[in-house]
Amino acid sequence: MVDYHTHTKLCRHAKGEIRDYILNAIAKNFKEIGVSDHMPLPDGFDPEHRMSVEEFKIYKQWYDSVVEEFGDKIRIKFGIEAEFIEEKIDFVRDFILNGEFDYVIGSLHFIGDWNIASHKEAWRWDGVDVNEVYESYYKAVKKLVSSGIFDIVGHFDMIKKFGHRSDKNFEGLIREILRLVKEYGLCVEINTSGLWHKVGEVYPSVEVLEIVREYKVPLTLGSDAHNPDDVGRGFEIAYELIQTYGDGRVSVFEGRERKEIKL
Ligand SMILES: [Zn+2]
Ligand SMILES: [Zn+2]
Repeated sequence: MVDYHTHTKLCRHAKGEIRDYILNAIAKNFKEIGVSDHMPLPDGFDPEHRMSVEEFKIYKQWYDSVVEEFGDKIRIKFGIEAEFIEEKIDFVRDFILNGEFDYVIGSLHFIGDWNIASHKEAWRWDGVDVNEVYESYYKAVKKLVSSGIFDIVGHFDMIKKFGHRSDKNFEGLIREILRLVKEYGLCVEINTSGLWHKVGEVYPSVEVLEIVREYKVPLTLGSDAHNPDDVGRGFEIAYELIQTYGDGRVSVFEGRERKEIKL
């Protein structure tokens, strides 16, 4: 098994250092793990959910030292969870190009100034038009994909996190996005963290995974662990989904090059 979505305490809302996640992955017999903490952003944007630009050095040092210590026991890949924010796209693109990453997850956490992933801001759902929020979300995901700067679409339908459901059907837009994912050579992660969120299901939902299978969009796996114990959490379910919707294949990366391994 591989787990490509893990965090560290550098992002200020997760626990542990990279080493703690690697030790858990080894104990759970993982063959490969990727580190993908939240990317820094300029101008003091959202500092409570990410490392600072200066702290990126520490992140890289932690990575280099675990490769040295555990590189013969497990393959460890250097990644980052990048933010898609249109106004900051130049910074994000440059950061990605200079970061020497094996892979980059592109995630959408913000609609305007609303952090739709944050519990602290879940109150903002009160009084908004759920259909409009969903539409803004998917339109932004479409831009994320066609920006061409990411390798993996993070938690594809995370907008459902707090259990708010749109009664509008977004299949058309979702199909457009997945066609672009294919065209731009990205893959979609099966992210198990949603099982423990209010929504209680993985990202993306099986309705989306049906289209993933139809278009033969490649898949990868992530627990989105914010605690070292959570490496690989829910992967019994993810394993079944990979078999059903991804022909048992998982994408892995090295130096931003994708290849597939069979589980
Ligand atoms: Zn996080
Ligand atoms: Zn995320």
